[in-house]
Amino acid sequence: MNKNETIVALSTPNGSGAIAIIRMSGDKALQILLNIFKRKNETSTLLHSRNYFGTIEEEAKIIDEVVCSYYKNPKSYTSEDLVEIFCHGSNYIIQTIIALCIKNGARSATAGEFTQRAFMHGKLDLSQAESVADLIASENNAQHQIAMSQMRGGFSNELKEMRDALINFAALIELELDFSEEDVEFVNRDAFKALLVNIAKKVEQLRNSFSYGNAIKKGIPVAIIGKPNSGKSTLLNTLMNEDRAIVSDIAGTTRDTIEEILHINGTAFRLIDTAGLRETVDTIEQFGIAKTKQKTKDASIVLLMVDIAEDVNDIVAQYVNLQLENHQIGIIVVNKIDNGSAGDAYNTEEAIATLAKTNAIAISAKQKLHIDKLGNLLLTEYEKKNTPSSDVIISNIRHYEALQNILETVKNIQEAMLANVSSELIAIDVRMALRYIGNITGEIEVDRDILGTIFGKFCIGK
Ligand code: GDP
Repeated sequence: MNKNETIVALSTPNGSGAIAIIRMSGDKALQILLNIFKRKNETSTLLHSRNYFGTIEEEAKIIDEVVCSYYKNPKSYTSEDLVEIFCHGSNYIIQTIIALCIKNGARSATAGEFTQRAFMHGKLDLSQAESVADLIASENNAQHQIAMSQMRGGFSNELKEMRDALINFAALIELELDFSEEDVEFVNRDAFKALLVNIAKKVEQLRNSFSYGNAIKKGIPVAIIGKPNSGKSTLLNTLMNEDRAIVSDIAGTTRDTIEEILHINGTAFRLIDTAGLRETVDTIEQFGIAKTKQKTKDASIVLLMVDIAEDVNDIVAQYVNLQLENHQIGIIVVNKIDNGSAGDAYNTEEAIATLAKTNAIAISAKQKLHIDKLGNLLLTEYEKKNTPSSDVIISNIRHYEALQNILETVKNIQEAMLANVSSELIAIDVRMALRYIGNITGEIEVDRDILGTIFGKFCIGK
């Protein structure tokens, strides 16, 4: 990446729309704009963060009437000089303006390059930059909240605190190494141990928030299982039809693994493997427990669909046979209540819930009875079981892996301290932990920081 190059790209989606925004960033952004943008008072310069009305012209031919804004470095998204051109959203106009910018010295931006520049200039750290992508992709309230909190630096702040504390100790330990012949201890071992306990706890919390964060980001996995004809497909259709406008198939999946996303009150549920389930003869007896378990393994919520005409004991046995894990939520959905009286349905629901020791809900998938109630149950049961352990929630697998590495390294340090391992080896592990933190935030020049702290505090350079 050449920082001096000026980049240009369309920042709104492709295709025609009322307005499109073309963004240009780099040293030449303002000059290029001035070359192609004509306005009434040409003699005045463009002021930071103001809008100007005028025309984009190519050799006296008016391409469009536009509004432009200019952000002077470093007070822009990228920290560079940045201009935005608000033009009419015709593909022809957009392409012509971009071509004009390029003709005047800009080049096409690569994917994510504006945000990458923001990162390179220290405007955002790496985890914040990543959250910009999540924010753009967010489709519901829960996803939006996680991405927004990360972009605003919640996660970064937690990491920064850890990093600063560790750097401080790293500096002291390295100082001990310099004075090793004199057998002095700069590091208060008890304080260091307490710090490690704190860090381990914090990192564990953050790491554990991943299963929640990931479920929110990708949709909470829900499996609908049950005997043939219990009404699984009908329920799926009913659920999806109710939300047709916000239903989306995940692209690139095969017919067997189509996943449908259902949004309930701002939370996404991913109905998994439903097409496969629809097609197989899904008798629990026939396939055996192992097969059913495999289908339910990855689900946070398992909906066992049964027919209200089935024997209560048989229903309970089906549920028990599922052998759900502790972290999973099982809901017995007693379907086809339109076939009997409402009183029966209520009693059956109660009886099943008590016997199976789980939630039971009586519905009619076909007549759309109690479907909202089922939706609410999914939501409340999930929230009950998955209250995040920290305010900051991570949803990125890269962060999860780095946190896992930090935790292991911190545990190694703790063990090394217990075993009175030499400071030299501890210093290596502390550096490694710092490097893992740096992996998340993108600050990997740890050495300079450690040196900075040493020299800043102790003046031992001479
Ligand atoms: P699946 O094999 O579990 O996917 O079951 P289907 O959804 O294909 O439904 C099997 C049959 O039960 C179909 O004839 C549906 O119309 C019927 N059915 C599904 N839900 C209900 C319901 O709530 N009430 C009634 N009366 N029939 C239902």
